[in-house]
Amino acid sequence: MQYRRLGRTGLQLSALSFGAWVTFGRQIGRSEAREIMALAWDRGINFFDNAETYNHGEAERLMGDVLADLRFSRDSYCVSSKVYFGSAEKPRPTQRGLSRKHVIEACHQALERLRVGHLDLYFCHRPDPETPIEETVAAMDTLIRQGKVLYWGTSEWPAAAIHEAHRVAQAMHMYAPVVEQPQYNLLHRERVEQEYAPLYASYGMGTTIWSPLASGLLSGKYNQGIPDGSRLTQPGYEWLRDMVLGEGGERVEKVKRLPAIAAEIGATPAQLAIAWCLANPNVSTVMLGASRKDQLEHNLEALELLPRFDLALKERIEQALA
Ligand code: NDP
Repeated sequence: MQYRRLGRTGLQLSALSFGAWVTFGRQIGRSEAREIMALAWDRGINFFDNAETYNHGEAERLMGDVLADLRFSRDSYCVSSKVYFGSAEKPRPTQRGLSRKHVIEACHQALERLRVGHLDLYFCHRPDPETPIEETVAAMDTLIRQGKVLYWGTSEWPAAAIHEAHRVAQAMHMYAPVVEQPQYNLLHRERVEQEYAPLYASYGMGTTIWSPLASGLLSGKYNQGIPDGSRLTQPGYEWLRDMVLGEGGERVEKVKRLPAIAAEIGATPAQLAIAWCLANPNVSTVMLGASRKDQLEHNLEALELLPRFDLALKERIEQALA
């Protein structure tokens, strides 16, 4: 495993990490989750991502049970949660958003479900137009001063809102966000590569990037239709289908051009797509998802491709997807 600093912080995260979205508490139960997390751990993964909203808190509950079961030493791994959407099926007004009340109560609930004394990373899952930014920055600062959170960050915030959070934190002598959690993959690049470009230099912002395979699409698994049991067949995730496959399946057509390039370096499209994310120096960690142990095993091999990622290869990939 390779380790990278989370932006300008001293925190060393594994370049590949693991997240629980969709899978934990829905597609897989305790024994499969235990197998996957044990494998991740054995291979050096030291960051596990979660959120209050994932399967209405069930993903955190399952991860907490497995962490307790596997008895990893608490100082050897990092775990995150995210606040905004709430964990209730139909959240009441005080059960969602980024008010001081919800940020602090959601943190307490995540600590309980994950069965840990502190969160290493705590993200504001989306911006909240209904809460003044000063209130959210102050709530995060409180949690850090109480030792319940070590680092805080944002997820899918516009660059202007991140600038504003820094301005407020500096003016109020409070802890500023150090990390953003954006989507980043071969088919979704603009925000990480362009919109956020000034933030890496100005604030030393780190990134924990999500959906490196665009929900599995970049593995080629949807090239001949939607396989039974895959993410796009999950009830409640119908909204994801068009986003992932594109209108009229246009994104699938692009993905069909990847196997030939991957084969040139002895890789699969999934490994190529993950290594491509890793090749961006502004990516602190690539968060993988897996519904089966063999998927994780396969994806971890992407690390070995990194030395072969030169400019010529990147250009061939760009041309294929243009
Ligand atoms: P990916 O894009 O890598 O998708 C993972 C899914 O793809 C797996 O669950 C599996 O789905 C399928 N898959 C993975 N590997 C393979 C393979 N080798 N062959 C075939 N299929 C494969 O990542 P995620 O979308 O899961 O994102 C990673 C993490 O990022 C999440 O778990 C979550 O923690 C975080 N996240 C954060 C968000 C945010 O707003 N901050 C939003 C979304 C995710 P299946 O087998 O079910 O088809």
